[in-house]
Amino acid sequence: MQKIIDDPTDLVRGALTGMAGAHPELDVDVENSIVYRATPKEAGKVALLSGGGSGHEPMHGGFVGHGMLDAACAGAVFTSPVPDQIQVATTRVDRGAGVLHIVKNYSGDVMNFEMAAEAADGVEVATVITADDVSVEDSTYSTGRRGVGVTVLLEKIVGAAAEEGLDLEGCRSLAQRVADSGRSMGVALTSGTVPAAGHPTFDLPEGRMEVGVGIHGEPGRRTDDLGTATEIARVLVEPILADRDFTSGPVLSFVNGMGGTPLLELYNLSADIDALLEEAGVEVVRHLVGPYITSLEMAGASLTLLSLDPEMLRYWDAPVNTPGLRWGAADAPAGSRSEGRRSASATGGAATAPAEGRPATVSPERREAPPSAARPAAASGAPGTVGARTVEAWLREFARLVTEHETTLTDLDAAIGDADHGANMVRGMNAVVAYLDELEDVDEVGPSTVLSKAGTTLVSKVGGASGPLYGTLLMRTGKACGDAPDLDATTLASALRAGVEGVMARGRSETGEKTMLDALVPALDAFDAAGGDLVVALDAAAAAADEGRDATTDMVASKGRASYLGDRSVGHQDPGATSAALLVTALRTAVASTTKE
Ligand code: ADP
Ligand code: MG
Repeated sequence: MQKIIDDPTDLVRGALTGMAGAHPELDVDVENSIVYRATPKEAGKVALLSGGGSGHEPMHGGFVGHGMLDAACAGAVFTSPVPDQIQVATTRVDRGAGVLHIVKNYSGDVMNFEMAAEAADGVEVATVITADDVSVEDSTYSTGRRGVGVTVLLEKIVGAAAEEGLDLEGCRSLAQRVADSGRSMGVALTSGTVPAAGHPTFDLPEGRMEVGVGIHGEPGRRTDDLGTATEIARVLVEPILADRDFTSGPVLSFVNGMGGTPLLELYNLSADIDALLEEAGVEVVRHLVGPYITSLEMAGASLTLLSLDPEMLRYWDAPVNTPGLRWGAADAPAGSRSEGRRSASATGGAATAPAEGRPATVSPERREAPPSAARPAAASGAPGTVGARTVEAWLREFARLVTEHETTLTDLDAAIGDADHGANMVRGMNAVVAYLDELEDVDEVGPSTVLSKAGTTLVSKVGGASGPLYGTLLMRTGKACGDAPDLDATTLASALRAGVEGVMARGRSETGEKTMLDALVPALDAFDAAGGDLVVALDAAAAAADEGRDATTDMVASKGRASYLGDRSVGHQDPGATSAALLVTALRTAVASTTKE
């Protein structure tokens, strides 16, 4: 891995520290990974908040400043931020007129922002979701399209509107109009490397290109022979024009670099795209060219076309002063002022983006003491029941198992997702182990609280899809345990069912969609059907979870990131179902060892 890093686990923090030093006009909360404006906008104006995984710099932190965002929350590499962080930022940026959450359409981002909005008491929150990637062809996959390039354009346009005092509903509906008026398509020539994974996310032989790639290196429509710039221009333009009519008014053309392709090639590509668009009768009135939504060091580019109505055009041209995009700003720092530019591609935008720094990354916070199930689960409860010590042993064993299988989880997620599931689970469960280590008397705390606290810890520490989902699973299970110090098989089963139903509600998902539910639900059913002896029932549950996990290989994903692959997700085992089967195995091991004592 050829990267300038110290410790992958400390990279996002380091990058944010560097950003704080380089940009005194920003106020960076390094602890919570939130970038704010140093000078908040005036009271009574709508605030704009976005965020997402790191690794896409300058998005989003580089777009904080006058005329764009009020704050941005950074997650781990390619992993959405967590609700706590988003909630803190939402409360702080509110100037009394409400906050617009700008969210890209990834399950993890959508769920984490949703949980933050639910928890942000006293602040009016509106949300817009971008979903502009035409490479995701089939809208029957209920997750819809990925949010990519249009996000930057939306942040700029709505940012200007908010600056002028448009109210929250006005900002939301303008944002929706922008989201609806843009389409994107990308190609990759090489893969990026997630620092925590240590190797490229996908294999792309010399002379080939991935057509329709996502910004996390998700596979696209097909792999093809690498074309010339003119051919690639066509590969990008055609599916966009096939998806939406761009001939009926002025259009903005945004040629985005994925991180590893130089501006020299991007401008050349932009010229080829302009020629094709002119031929097709598309009137391009504004350009943006540069690396604005990157995917670590991936070589490649994406094209976003946006139809501009007069209002959108006016807001696009309004001054903006952020580290990543800057023009026409009266208060721009010396040397970067660029008044009256009509094309952003010729301004500080492209020139300043690289100064944003190369990818910020993070991986699991490996604690010094590896998580371990070694701490014995003394038989705290009546025989055949699950007490707080067994719950503790369960969580410790799960932490041990996800650590042992981290590489497998990473690799499975690299194949149909974004290579972060191993890191996510290890980071989250290490935090749970840290919580358990601090407990003086787990029996006094009780199974309900231990599970609930473990759940909130996951929600706070993991992000992505698995943070809200595993967090909800444990929180709901804990809540359903009630006050009892020991759970018998029936109580445990119904508590776990409540937890699994929580996952379904939060994820808007059911079995058969190639997710963790395909391991969890069969396990629960087998547990119920076995009845009687707890260990015997859990043996059946663990076997059913493993079978359910294996069955995901043949499924087409219709939830989560893998759903963007459509049929190409077939043949790969689901990473979440794999970790979920470990969760069930861990419960069986914990109960068996408790019962033995
Ligand atoms: P992300 O997809 O945000 O990168 P992870 O890689 O940690 O998050 O987790 C991916 C796993 O989450 C998937 O393999 C799948 O099992 C599960 N998952 C994703 N979306 C859903 C959903 N809507 N419902 C249930 N499980 C889901
Ligand atoms: Mg993932």
